[in-house]
Amino acid sequence: MWGSSKLRPNRPDRSKEGALTRGSSARAAVTSRLGTRAGMSTLILILILIPTAMMLEYRYHSNDDIEHYFHQINASNPDIAHLYTIGRSVAGQQLWVLVLGLSPRLHTVGIPEFKYVANMHGNEVLGRELLLQLVDELVRGYRGNESWSLQLLKSTRIHILPTMNPDGFDDSDTHCQLSQGRFNRNGIDLNRNFPDAFAALREGQPVDVWRREAEVQAVIGWLKMETFVLSANLHGGALVASYPYDNSNGGSELVGRASLTPDNDVFVHLAKVYSHNHASMHQGWSCGEPVSFADGITNGYRWYPLSGGMQDYNYVWAQCLELTLEVSCCKFPPAKQLPALWMDNRKSLLAFIQQVHLGVKGRVFDGSGAPVQNAVVEVKGRSNMRPFLTNQHGEYYRLLLPGNHTFRVTYPGHHVLTETLYVPYGPDHYSALKHDFLLRRITMTTGSPSSPPTKWVQVEAAGPPDTPTWTRMVTRLGLALVLNSLIS
Ligand SMILES: [Zn+2]
Repeated sequence: MWGSSKLRPNRPDRSKEGALTRGSSARAAVTSRLGTRAGMSTLILILILIPTAMMLEYRYHSNDDIEHYFHQINASNPDIAHLYTIGRSVAGQQLWVLVLGLSPRLHTVGIPEFKYVANMHGNEVLGRELLLQLVDELVRGYRGNESWSLQLLKSTRIHILPTMNPDGFDDSDTHCQLSQGRFNRNGIDLNRNFPDAFAALREGQPVDVWRREAEVQAVIGWLKMETFVLSANLHGGALVASYPYDNSNGGSELVGRASLTPDNDVFVHLAKVYSHNHASMHQGWSCGEPVSFADGITNGYRWYPLSGGMQDYNYVWAQCLELTLEVSCCKFPPAKQLPALWMDNRKSLLAFIQQVHLGVKGRVFDGSGAPVQNAVVEVKGRSNMRPFLTNQHGEYYRLLLPGNHTFRVTYPGHHVLTETLYVPYGPDHYSALKHDFLLRRITMTTGSPSSPPTKWVQVEAAGPPDTPTWTRMVTRLGLALVLNSLIS
């Protein structure tokens, strides 16, 4: 976040010395106690039995430490971990992502992709440590056969990017509120550098993705590589869960002082899941600022408008619902507070992942029974700026609250399919409702299969009376096409 605070600055310990893990300290202590040849076999046995993931130390880890730790986890847990990089920072540092899940290297149809990102602002550092602790906790839980971890890793593929701005972290001051290190090495605020749908429509100018900052380009490429369903971006300097939109053109999205998405009910629910599972966020404490956050949540625009933010980009362009989580009043809390801050956030970090199982998921099949990419899966009453499309496996994921929801599936050459489904609350049993849509091909007597826009108009006319009007459909398609044409 931006903003000043009356909080007094402090000087936390950022020493890069010391053991990477509490395990290393424990091993040193064991070595010193045993210290004899007779104890060596016992020592070796103990070292084997101490899983590395159990003992991450509570301190600030350097970028090299993170790389080392992730390599350790990856090497010792090949069945559930996979390490990859999405690119490099301006100064050439790798942007490491660790995946946890039962099929860590590859997407599995029906298993949703989830991500956590932290340290986009280099001087907002608590999120880095929370995500490292989260990795430690998930791996330790899995190895210990704890059901909460087994269930999460069985049902979800979890991607963790602990630092999106490693150069900024290296430049950062340990001050609670000052912004040194906020920007990347080019002096750019990465949370203002994403293509912005509202700005693109307002200005009618093409958005050039490839002239974005290296770190932003890396995330954009990442979003194209995986079909992420749910995400959170961890910041510091406030204590609140913020949800899209961050921007507005003053259209129908603007309700009062908030800029609301068509999925606002889902976003409010998601934000409350985080704030109410957090030790104090739900109390709405505003870190001394003259602003109140009821339930510890806020619409991003209502708090303060911004253009080029990452959460709007995720939602509009990548159909991934993302929150911006402000997890500490102090951007660089003293290291001695890390154990308590981890405990404040542990339950909410885990509960939020589980929300990836809200709603409905499944595949769309064409008239020959093959899964189809780029089928439009719409939910009545939710006019997304860009329609949600199926991925290369024909999959769709729609996060929805429990209740009846009417779906409308459209694909060139096929009849529009409209179905109403009762959607239960999926997170409790770690799965959204599974439902496939089977399309029927339009015969040649009702239209030519080779002209998608015409086809959409024809099938629209053949749809049930309560489907959107032709004009509205064309307007929607037009907006999507305009948006698509504005990004290159
Ligand atoms: Zn921030």
